Amino acid sequence: MQFISRRHAVKHLAVLGTATALSPGLLACAKSEDKKLGIALVGLGNYATIQLAPALQKTTYCELRGIVTGTPEKATKWQKEYGIQPVHTYDYSTFDRLRDDPAIDIVYIVLPNFMHAEYTIRALEMGKHVICEKPMGMNVEECRAMIAAAKKANRLLQIGYRLFYEPHHLELMRWAQQPHEGRIKLMETSLGFDMARPGLWRIDPKMGGGGALMDLGPYTIQAARRAAGQNPISVRAQGFLDDPDIYKGIYGTYTWQLRFPDDALCNTTASFSAYVDRYHVAKGHHFMELKPAFSANSKMVLRDWDGERSLPCAEFQQATQMDAFARNILDGAPVVASGEEGLIDMQIIGAIKQSIETGREVEIKY
Ligand code: NAD
Repeated sequence: MQFISRRHAVKHLAVLGTATALSPGLLACAKSEDKKLGIALVGLGNYATIQLAPALQKTTYCELRGIVTGTPEKATKWQKEYGIQPVHTYDYSTFDRLRDDPAIDIVYIVLPNFMHAEYTIRALEMGKHVICEKPMGMNVEECRAMIAAAKKANRLLQIGYRLFYEPHHLELMRWAQQPHEGRIKLMETSLGFDMARPGLWRIDPKMGGGGALMDLGPYTIQAARRAAGQNPISVRAQGFLDDPDIYKGIYGTYTWQLRFPDDALCNTTASFSAYVDRYHVAKGHHFMELKPAFSANSKMVLRDWDGERSLPCAEFQQATQMDAFARNILDGAPVVASGEEGLIDMQIIGAIKQSIETGREVEIKY
């Protein structure tokens, strides 16, 4: 692949255990250049602070090396806490200088949803690989523009879908697609929190794009698609305005039913008004369930008709996700949580919005 630098190629060889076959000169070079990929976090809010920065202390192939923040006090605090050099510290007016910072290989966009497309595209155009948080963009057009920008720049794009790499989710997906216990007939994937507060950007349609549907919907949609191993063909959706004083232009609770080509059905709730966190897949009387299913750092327990079990997993799901992306860059391998995956989720979200507006079942166009 064009974008793999000599440094990356040398590191990759070393990781594969082939370094012993190299000449002593190249070995010395591999040692001195055996660096992790540098990540710059853009937007030092809750997720970056509580999850991503601690996760980056546990990664094998990447390292927190830069920050972009509009708050000088945060910059000072992060520099001290994580040893970030002032030269790798940016604000939104100096963001484009990242282009000339060779220490930063990956730019991680952790901004409110309405800023995802703009900052992702700018970072790709600067020649950086990009991880963009979910939801990928505000609509299908933005997602397509982000994918096109990655292709044009010959850089990789990952969406912050941490559960794509989570062992319990992978096991549930493996079981769901095993044909010998029958095919999936019914799924329930739901996620909700009591989190709507006045002033929160997530409940502003212009900044969040659609409340819980945009914020929590992607997890539940992916879970259904990944268990089914196929994409839904139609959706019927409902919106509930459970607190009109708080929700303006969005609903507090969204429910929908996805229909798959083989008539499997997934019923979903996404809510900013009440707690729910559940992933249930059933084939006749056989079922597998995760509850809680989607929150980061919850203890995951797989339940089926036979009992329950937990699988070994990383302390931070995000460390596995970021390392997987770094490996994709180093290996030139395709990204699993790709922009194309984000686009499909947005196409389904678009159909859900259309179904609520029309009161009809809507065919999903891909
Ligand atoms: P947050 O509000 O805590 O942080 C947003 C950051 O963006 C803040 O530091 C804010 O100062 C900064 N910002 C810069 N320009 C801004 C502007 N014009 N308006 C508002 N804020 C601006 O939000 P968060 O919870 O950290 O979420 C950030 C992103 O991460 C969202 O897209 C969210 O969906 C995603 N997220 C993903 C997960 C996950 O599990 N993958 C979990 C939480 C959040």
